[in-house]
Amino acid sequence: MSRTEAPPLPEPLRVPVADSHTHLDMQDGTVEEGLARAAAVNVTTVIQVGCDVKGSRWAAETAAAHASVYAAVALHPNEAPRIVHGDPDNWSRQGAREGGGTAALHEALAEIDALAALDHVRGVGETGLDYFRTGPEGMAAQEESFRAHIEIAKRHGKALVIHDREAHADVLRILADAGAPERTVFHCYSGDADMARICADAGYFMSFAGNMTFKNAQPLRDALAVAPAELVLVETDAPFLTPAPYRGRPNAPYLIPVTLRAMAAVRGVDEDTLASAIADNTARAFDY
Ligand SMILES: [Zn+2]
Ligand SMILES: [Zn+2]
Repeated sequence: MSRTEAPPLPEPLRVPVADSHTHLDMQDGTVEEGLARAAAVNVTTVIQVGCDVKGSRWAAETAAAHASVYAAVALHPNEAPRIVHGDPDNWSRQGAREGGGTAALHEALAEIDALAALDHVRGVGETGLDYFRTGPEGMAAQEESFRAHIEIAKRHGKALVIHDREAHADVLRILADAGAPERTVFHCYSGDADMARICADAGYFMSFAGNMTFKNAQPLRDALAVAPAELVLVETDAPFLTPAPYRGRPNAPYLIPVTLRAMAAVRGVDEDTLASAIADNTARAFDY
């Protein structure tokens, strides 16, 4: 068995759940194949997340074409500085490569705004702050973009999907300052138990990814243990963050049961109880 081979299908869940955050456009195989494999293990809904204008358009089109897919649209926190500065060293997925100043950022945000109005687009994100990939020179663009996404989410009544990498305090501060939308999701939740209590008080959803299974992730498991049952979601963030024991191999929505079972063990509840709660929570968060 090769390190890069796709992991086998896990035992199906008995209660259908959603993958609250995935990137089908970065995974092997067709969308139909990916959705069929997920459905085979009772992962019956996926939120497809766009990271730039092109990816957000694709997410919206894919959601329009598939009843089991909803879209979230945004400029990723690492994308906003790239649009403003045209920095070729900055983390890139696809999309605009030319530096265009703040005018280009505003143009891209207007496209996201238009997509956010569509019915099958249920989230605005992933947006937020990423201090791991983006240096100090990109922070102003990141914050401007983050605040614009908060405003778009509120105006359209969509969930805000937060990407927070090594920026917990500033993300929480800006959310409180701008006024968080009614439904706010911390995707790939990466805070500790103290931050989970802050999120719980604010009513923010916490979406856990495969990294909660990693050996060094005890703070994440401690956070999961204290998060209120009604605010917990599960996601793959596939193709990234494949859960143990498949770490390093390609991730996809059909691996949700692996993470969900690890989460149930951490919370000391049975799999069906957690799956039911997560199914309800995801539907509430993304209003479907
Ligand atoms: Zn992210
Ligand atoms: Zn993502």
